[in-house]
Amino acid sequence: MSASATSNPKPGRPFWVGTSWKMNGLPDDARRYAERIAAVDDWHGIRPFVMPPFTVLADVARLLHGSAVQVGGQNMHWDESGSWTGEISAPMLRQCGATMVELGHSERRRHFGETDETVNWKIHAALRHGLTPLVCIGETQAERDGNVADLILARQVRLALHGLTAAQAGRVMFAYEPVWAIGEAGRPAPPELVAQAAAGIRQELDRAAGAPGVSPPLLYGGSVNLENAAPYAALADIDGLFVGRAAWTAEGYATLARTASRTLAAPRPEP
Ligand code: PEP
Repeated sequence: MSASATSNPKPGRPFWVGTSWKMNGLPDDARRYAERIAAVDDWHGIRPFVMPPFTVLADVARLLHGSAVQVGGQNMHWDESGSWTGEISAPMLRQCGATMVELGHSERRRHFGETDETVNWKIHAALRHGLTPLVCIGETQAERDGNVADLILARQVRLALHGLTAAQAGRVMFAYEPVWAIGEAGRPAPPELVAQAAAGIRQELDRAAGAPGVSPPLLYGGSVNLENAAPYAALADIDGLFVGRAAWTAEGYATLARTASRTLAAPRPEP
């Protein structure tokens, strides 16, 4: 390996750092957050995105318009309009300025009955309307203890991409988020475990995309913070970080993005 090699084992592939605010962000806080990150003039090669609640999405998208930061919804319905009380459609997200949408987060699967099948319908709808779906997949602790984590992850990937052409599959993004690693009760996953799971997911993605190297981006999420971001960012099959709590302040988010960009640029030790 040459001395000038960097930690980024995936040169040429974009590296994403994004956050979902979940059910947080009243209008004043959301505006302050958006104004602060709109003022960042150099993301050092990172592709940034934020996913605020629907109620402030249009405001945040307006404030970030013209910046490098993409804006996404945290969920949507598969239909375009109709009698779906309380739901939001892909055209509605687009009208608000969203270019991305998070689908299949474990909290939605667990508390709101989201299934691999409905996630697949939503992915089709998002692509039809020009939104980039970010699909969350991950195994529970019981599935990992029962040695079926790899099977569960493969199933989630295959069902997510069901019925898509290779070109369409290449427009989908994934986030590997072990359910047991997410949120207040979450335990950060050892990077070696993430590396092993991500390699298996990558195989599925390559198969779906029809060729290695052009498969969908795979982000990692689950208790990512300033202390552990660098080892996750350096993993060969990981194309980004999807962050909750640690990015719920504009400063926290921008610092994490800087940490990721420094990790990717750092010289890699000789093997
Ligand atoms: C998440 O819920 O998707 C997530 C990554 O949250 P946290 O970073 O807070 O664990």
